[in-house]
Amino acid sequence: MSLPSSLLTSLPEQLALDQERPFEAIRLQSPLKGPRLIVTAAVHGNETCGTFAIERLVKQFEQGELKLKCGAVTFVPVTNPKAYRLQRRNGDRNLNRRLIPTDTPAQYEDHIANWLCPLLAEHDGLLDLHSFQSGAQPFALFGPKNNTETLEPFAHANIEEALVQRLGCSRFVYGWLDTYAKGIGRRAAEVNAGRFNAKEVDVDTRYGIGTTEYMRSTGGWSITLECSQHDDPGGREVAYQAILNTLIYLGLIEGTPPQPAQDFQVLGLYDVYDRFDMNDTFAKVWKSFDPIAQGEIIGTRADGTVLRAQQDCFIVFPNIKSQPGQEWFYLARSGGRLGR
Ligand SMILES: [Zn+2]
Repeated sequence: MSLPSSLLTSLPEQLALDQERPFEAIRLQSPLKGPRLIVTAAVHGNETCGTFAIERLVKQFEQGELKLKCGAVTFVPVTNPKAYRLQRRNGDRNLNRRLIPTDTPAQYEDHIANWLCPLLAEHDGLLDLHSFQSGAQPFALFGPKNNTETLEPFAHANIEEALVQRLGCSRFVYGWLDTYAKGIGRRAAEVNAGRFNAKEVDVDTRYGIGTTEYMRSTGGWSITLECSQHDDPGGREVAYQAILNTLIYLGLIEGTPPQPAQDFQVLGLYDVYDRFDMNDTFAKVWKSFDPIAQGEIIGTRADGTVLRAQQDCFIVFPNIKSQPGQEWFYLARSGGRLGR
């Protein structure tokens, strides 16, 4: 399913909508009632480990090596065809932000949202397969505790917590949307204080809604698996095993039930810092999940303000390319869920 690079370089950045590869879902449905799972890959176009894993599994279903016992499974091998064609993260914008149907689609990703969101809503659960820029170890993101708050009300923490431990990885991260919302609140205060122009930065919490958040907003559960570095072919096996384990765990196919991880790390995101200025600099070349000791310098603002860790923590998603008014890095602390 990957394009030859000779063809790729001859393709223009912008194609008419009807010239892009169409949106595609492969749907298997049993006559017997059961859970309805959807598996998405290449939400970011250069993250293709899940695409390969899906192709392998679909073939196994077609050849009868795997049999659907009940329920339904839908595979979306290339969720963002334009970004996939261009072999980069985004087409016109990040599909994994502000993923909401719209009557006035403007960017390419708005059209994906109008197709994908109703499809997600037809399912009970989502496994969303990604890869990462730097780091070594796969990790999975899961959602909030059960709650009735307005930000992300939720009632399926049990299944997410059980499944996340059975995907085959041993690092689990939670707390994304509430930390994001906290950052948005702070950013809005900076706009009011005159640091940023309201037209140039995002101050809408809905901007934090990606595939998994949208899925939970429709009453479903969802997990993101970050399989490997983008170009590491090992990620394909990680993605394949995770889909297989999920299908078995949900009772959709036969197989030895996956056992929960024994030796694992669980991290709760709790804070996010925006970049204020392109001359804000990190104290060192941070990688996601590097530990930071209390008091250690994380970075220094252009105005000389030194940012130190208030407690022992881990840096997550440090981004040297972020622009003023965008997230610069997140902080996470150990434990707080899954009995840790
Ligand atoms: Zn991604």
